[in-house]
Parts: sequence; structure tokens; C-alpha cells
Amino acid sequence: MNRSEILSHLKQNPKVSVLIVGAGINGIGTFRDLALNGVDVLLIDRADFCSGASSASSHMAHGGIRYLENGEFRLVREAVAERNRLLQNAAHIVKPLPTTIPIFKTFSGIFNAPLKFFGKLDKPSERGSIIIKLGLMMYDAYTGKHRTVPKHKFLSRKVSLKNWNQLNADITNTAVYYDGLITNPNASPLT
Ligand SMILES: Cc1cc2nc3c(=O)[nH]c(=O)nc-3n(C[C@H](O)[C@H](O)[C@H](O)COP(=O)(O)OP(=O)(O)OC[C@H]3O[C@@H](n4cnc5c(N)ncnc54)[C@H](O)[C@@H]3O)c2cc1C
Repeated sequence: MNRSEILSHLKQNPKVSVLIVGAGINGIGTFRDLALNGVDVLLIDRADFCSGASSASSHMAHGGIRYLENGEFRLVREAVAERNRLLQNAAHIVKPLPTTIPIFKTFSGIFNAPLKFFGKLDKPSERGSIIIKLGLMMYDAYTGKHRTVPKHKFLSRKVSLKNWNQLNADITNTAVYYDGLITNPNASPLT
């Protein structure tokens, strides 16, 4: 059916169980789940599918590592589960994404992190290797035993500067952790 045929069919058969207004990633994801469950569902958009914020993605399927610091554990658990589903169900367009953190201090952030956790501090502060290590261990634990991405790695200053020779030579370490890279955010996860 072409566009005008679809519109005229809808005018003649206007009743659907669910109408989703807005075909960004949230509308499309809801549409997919309902349709897969056999629900009679219609998805509409005032412009085109994925023409809003969903067209501007930075290509990251992230598990929300930064929310650990605010104690938003449920959010991280859900985001990591969704990231893992994307890595598993759409492996042709979602790949493990290594992310490298340059580290300049060891103990920094040890006192700020608990304050931030309990909502007593909202200013960003420098995170040292101990806090980063703890955060990455927790982040790995959320991924669970069905590893969709490798565990994080801590690299010494020497190895880091050898791998990335343009890094600031003041670093003490680097840490590498993984999230998801959406290679083509506009492709359908079903294709
Ligand atoms: C620059 C940028 C980079 C980002 N990078 C990432 C990233 O790397 N990873 C990540 O996970 N998230 C990223 N995000 C966040 C992510 O893009 C959004 O959280 C997500 O796209 C929101 O999806 P949505 O479906 O809620 O909204 P939208 O994608 O905005 O969809 C809403 C749709 O509703 C339609 N609409 C609105 N009003 C009406 C109406 N009255 N009638 C009919 N249709 C209507 C619009 O046309 C639009 O298509 C980024 C956001 C931005 C802005």
C-alpha cells in the first residue's frame, strides 16, 4: 500500500486498540513490543519516523555508568539490561564500544563520591583510580554472567602512553570499559 492508500484505509477503519503518537525510539519500541504480542496497534508521527531526538543519537547504547554515582542503581540495572538486549538482538548494528578514561589521581573523589551518593553534593569532582575501579567493578557486575561486552581493564601509565602516545603524560593510569556502539542508529533492529 502507498501512503494515500494507507491513510484512506485508516479513515475507513479508524478503530485500533492502541494508538501511539510519536515515532521516536520510545514509540517504535512500544509499537514493536505490542505488535509482537499480537496487539492491534497504530504508530503515527507528525513528521517522519525517527525525525525528532532519535535522529540525533551519538551512536551510544549506554548502560548509564554515571548514574552509579547518584545511587540510581535501578536505572543502571534497566539500562544495562536494555544495552545487553541491543547487543544480542541487533548484533549486526550494535557492537561493543571500548571507552578509555584517563586517570590523574589515586585517592581523589573518595570523600566526594559518598556525599554525591547521599545528595549532599551536586558539583562534579575529579575521580581517582580507587573510585573508578569500584565503579567499574559494579558496572561489570550489572552486565552479569552472560557477558555481552568484555570486563573493564586497568592499564598502567607506561602501557597507556605506549598505546595512545598523544595522551597527557601526567596520567597515572587509564581504565577501559565497554558499552554499545550503534553503528547505524537509523537502521531497523529487525532487518
Ligand atoms: C544530540 C543528542 C545525542 C544523543 N545521543 C544519545 C546516545 O548516543 N545514546 C542514547 O541512548 N541516547 C542519546 N540521546 C537521547 C535520545 O536520543 C533520546 O532520549 C531519545 O531519542 C528520545 O526518544 P523519544 O522517542 O522519547 O523522542 P523523539 O525521538 O523526539 O520522538 C518523538 C516523536 O514524536 C513526534 N511528535 C511530537 N509531537 C507530536 C504530535 N503532537 N503528533 C504526532 N507526532 C508528534 C516527533 O515528530 C518525533 O518523531 C541523544 C539526544 C540528543 C539530543
